[in-house]
Amino acid sequence: MRQVTPLSDNFYARWRTRPGVGWSLREDAATPPERLLQAVWQHQRLHREHLKTLDGRPVRVLHPGFCSLEGGPDFRGAVIQIGDEPPRSGDVEVDLRSSGWRAHGHDRNPNFGNVILHVVWDGDAKTGTPTTLALREVLDAPLAELSLWLDHELPSLPENLRGKCCAPLRELTDEETTLLLHEAAHVRLQSKAAQLASRARAAGWEQALWEGLFRGLGYKHNVWPMQNLAESRPRWLRRGDSVLQLQARLLGVSGLLPAELNRPADGDGHYLRRVWDCWWRERDEFADCIFPRAAWHLHGIRPANHPQRRVAAAAHWLLAGDLPARLQKWCATERKDFQLADSLLEVLQVERDEFWSWHWTFRSTRLAKPQPLLGETRATDLAINVILPWLWTRAKEGRNDDVRREVERRYFAWPAAEDNSLLRLARQRLLGTRRIAFRNAALQQGLLQIVRDFCNHSNAICEECRFPELVRAWKPERAGPAAR
Ligand code: SF4
Repeated sequence: MRQVTPLSDNFYARWRTRPGVGWSLREDAATPPERLLQAVWQHQRLHREHLKTLDGRPVRVLHPGFCSLEGGPDFRGAVIQIGDEPPRSGDVEVDLRSSGWRAHGHDRNPNFGNVILHVVWDGDAKTGTPTTLALREVLDAPLAELSLWLDHELPSLPENLRGKCCAPLRELTDEETTLLLHEAAHVRLQSKAAQLASRARAAGWEQALWEGLFRGLGYKHNVWPMQNLAESRPRWLRRGDSVLQLQARLLGVSGLLPAELNRPADGDGHYLRRVWDCWWRERDEFADCIFPRAAWHLHGIRPANHPQRRVAAAAHWLLAGDLPARLQKWCATERKDFQLADSLLEVLQVERDEFWSWHWTFRSTRLAKPQPLLGETRATDLAINVILPWLWTRAKEGRNDDVRREVERRYFAWPAAEDNSLLRLARQRLLGTRRIAFRNAALQQGLLQIVRDFCNHSNAICEECRFPELVRAWKPERAGPAAR
């Protein structure tokens, strides 16, 4: 059998220390990469009893926070006690130097307004904020050793930082866990349906549906501008418009039209010119409801998800005018589980748009092949968050139990939605390393409902969360529906 060599003789271990590989850490490295520092913080590989801010106050870390993958501070929801102050919940930013706070513009960025601790490798009281903690002298092992140990650890949550419900949930069988998540998902379906019903009472069924669809199209950073746009639908929707006219009005009202008319000479530049020609004629009429462009979050959005494209797709739905009826017909038509997602996508898909099928954005060049305006992921999100709850609540209000049960069947059979950072964190906190196959969207929805009902009302150390005791007391085989 092959002998295991000490790390010093291991050529692969030496490869890892080369510049540009992994953490790029050498034994003599004076400064670790920032990602390694983040991992050290997440796993608290520190002499935790010796932590002090640069101005000498002791720091007690009750929870380091959850690694944020969405920009802004590196860790969200940490629980930290500094000096004699009571413990506080807030964010933690990790930088190599204390001067990074100003150099990176964090002091001017409102996203960093909730930072309670600035963690740095090396700090200077003159350049740091008062709540800066330097790690250089408090690591619990040499950097090279930490680098080896932490290499693959950053995305996962250390065992001691999992939720307090993780242990009682581990006691449940897979079937019991699935049942629990399904129950939570059912609550989520009803709560979304109740929101739509309440809006329908004020604005009508169709308007409630359109607002829901627009919100869904704005996922996830542009929910509110899309909702606002939908709320003014009675004002900008005119029967008899062409697609171009309606797209121009929607893009104009939303403030998403580029100010520059110079387009690449790829033969499609005239589309923007024609849109502007339409919008110029109407702009004064809508002057009081044009959104500022700043209302949109456009930074980092994938071209396929750009709100310009979403708005252009919605114009087709609105002009056709029969989407609510087609959705009801889809619901009344028999579909096997495996046909659900494709059949709905067929109802929602826009056949072809002369410009948007061939361009991701106004600025992009013409694509070699036409691309659909709506993908499977968005269709699933619309199904789970808007369409099925809307159909369900309509059936309930109309006392149509057959349709209501059919909508529930579809909801629980719907294939899983795309994974995201919220779901990943929830799985790590609640289920740890346990592998539950999240094959359908309802299980994901159940998990999100637990986060909403429990995690969002507690903090990173699960203070006063009743979920663990509820899970412990729950014995599905004995309890029966009354006890649930
Ligand atoms: S807050 Fe409650 S539900 Fe969330 S992880 Fe902690 S114990 Fe679990």
